[in-house]
Amino acid sequence: MPIHVLADQVVAQIAAGEVIERPSSVIKELVENALDAGASNIRISVDGGGRRMMRVSDDGYGITTSEVELAFARHATSKLQTADDLSHIQTLGFRGEALASIASVSHVTVTTRHRDEASGTQMRLEGGRIDTRRSVGAPAGTVITVENLFYNTPARFKFLKAENTEKRQIAIVVNRYAIAYPHVRFFLEQDEREVFRSSGSGELADVLVAALGLDTFRDMLEISGQDEAGQISVYGYTSAPHMHRADRSRIMLFVNGRWVQDTSLSYAVVQAYHTFLMTGRYPSAVLMISLPPQEVDVNVHPTKAEVRFQNPNAIFSVIQRAVRRTIIDLAQTPSLHTPGRASGDGQWTRPSDDSRRAMQMGMDLRLESPGQFPHQRPRHDYENTERDSTAIPYGPTGPERPRTLPMLRVIGQVGASYIVTEGPAGMYLIDQHAAHERILYEQFMADYAKQGTIAQYTLSTQTIELPAPEAHLIEENLDALQAVGFGLESFGTNTFLIRSVPAMLSDHSPVEVIGGIINELEIGKEPGQATIEEKIIKRVCRHAAVKAGTVLSHDEMQSIIRQLERCDSPHTCPHGRPTMLHMSGDQLAREFGRK
Ligand code: ADP
Ligand code: MG
Repeated sequence: MPIHVLADQVVAQIAAGEVIERPSSVIKELVENALDAGASNIRISVDGGGRRMMRVSDDGYGITTSEVELAFARHATSKLQTADDLSHIQTLGFRGEALASIASVSHVTVTTRHRDEASGTQMRLEGGRIDTRRSVGAPAGTVITVENLFYNTPARFKFLKAENTEKRQIAIVVNRYAIAYPHVRFFLEQDEREVFRSSGSGELADVLVAALGLDTFRDMLEISGQDEAGQISVYGYTSAPHMHRADRSRIMLFVNGRWVQDTSLSYAVVQAYHTFLMTGRYPSAVLMISLPPQEVDVNVHPTKAEVRFQNPNAIFSVIQRAVRRTIIDLAQTPSLHTPGRASGDGQWTRPSDDSRRAMQMGMDLRLESPGQFPHQRPRHDYENTERDSTAIPYGPTGPERPRTLPMLRVIGQVGASYIVTEGPAGMYLIDQHAAHERILYEQFMADYAKQGTIAQYTLSTQTIELPAPEAHLIEENLDALQAVGFGLESFGTNTFLIRSVPAMLSDHSPVEVIGGIINELEIGKEPGQATIEEKIIKRVCRHAAVKAGTVLSHDEMQSIIRQLERCDSPHTCPHGRPTMLHMSGDQLAREFGRK
């Protein structure tokens, strides 16, 4: 074939491929245009997952009679003059590609009237070519109807996903814009059924209730924060730690009103939940990030879903700190009556149901003698201490720490695993193992932060022989192990002399403990998540914490509760499971039919 310049129509189709990938891309572009036109009401109707018909109607300022054709020309835009404008762009669109792209791969009908004009225009295009055009009476605003999408690009048509997938995707896109623009009223119907409606009240909370469902929203916490200069700010909602999901798709980020995908910023949210959520579980969040327009480059990608920041680290830390602070401050004690099942998409889970029970079952349920676990504190001071309420060692000690829970009165123990307590707001059921793990963890971390004050228990002649790969792992992590109190020394091939272990493990078989830690090391360090030291510490605390199935004396329970009351994060164990369930006086009354 000789070289020739491609026909405009072909060029347009090729270019359209970048912007219009699937039906939801059409919705995205049309909704963005409506928002840029200052609409307060946007109505979206879709049939057949967008294959048959998509229509977006708005009450924005409309397109003037003289500009209707131009709007469908490639690179025609009213939002940008010079390349300089790009650095402080305030509109969602600016590339002037969407209408031309959509029109080149479908049949489009536009009906529009500009606010300042008496009559409107209706124009039909087929594959980008103008078919008919006439003057019509119409309300101010624009209605664009797209039919037969990809009718002339069979390759694209073939790759359309199942109708339901496209429907879902369209709903997701509409949700996103509704969330980003709470003061705009959105209405979405699919196959003539209303699927979503937002009130346009201007309150983010109202849209979130509509978009996520009331049950989900109820468990979200409001967050806000900004950097010192007041340039970067974040506002929004993030899930309470007991709500979590298997993926991070519910972390939604908006930068200056634009939904963006940014792995690093989502990670800032995930990281804020460190120790509150189990590995592999993710929070939900909706965060509105505002920053000066010149700090963000939105012209990275044709669909503008990816952006580039001038100072990503600063944004990362504003998000991370705001979310973290809120979780630590506000995480509420999970209530027995929070629905255990999900609302909305049914993917929510609560750790308190079966999975949790399974976890408990996996633990050592051996009934130990009540006297056994008090030995889990350092031997050196054990001899001089009476068996009293300090029998649960290693709680936060030293200067009184601030109280994070109300004073709880111990009533008794259930199933040798849970401590029943009463507080001003009703009954609290405490998981003794999880609670003790939390106490030990905070104590250990505090000691660790002070560097080198980890109490050690010295052993005389213990050696451990390991298979080569495990020995190698230990070898590689000798420093980290040393830092948290494990003194190990090479002692011939694949053998180590155990000189010391963290004092809280003085009563455990060092060989067993080290075996557990090797497991943890094998799983490896997740990027950025915990340091190896932290991982080891968590493992140590799990070992040392009083097990489920251990009968406790009243004093022992009292000691756990007193220490838990002053933990920084008393509601979860270091692995993110809840330490307690709460049932208020009201709930009790309701259960007994007194209310
Ligand atoms: P862009 O949004 O990047 O400018 P588009 O191809 O999406 O490019 O739209 C081209 C132009 O058509 C816009 O700049 C705008 O002036 C006009 N336009 C498109 N949709 C609307 C609408 N719903 N209301 C008013 N004007 C619109
Ligand atoms: Mg546009």
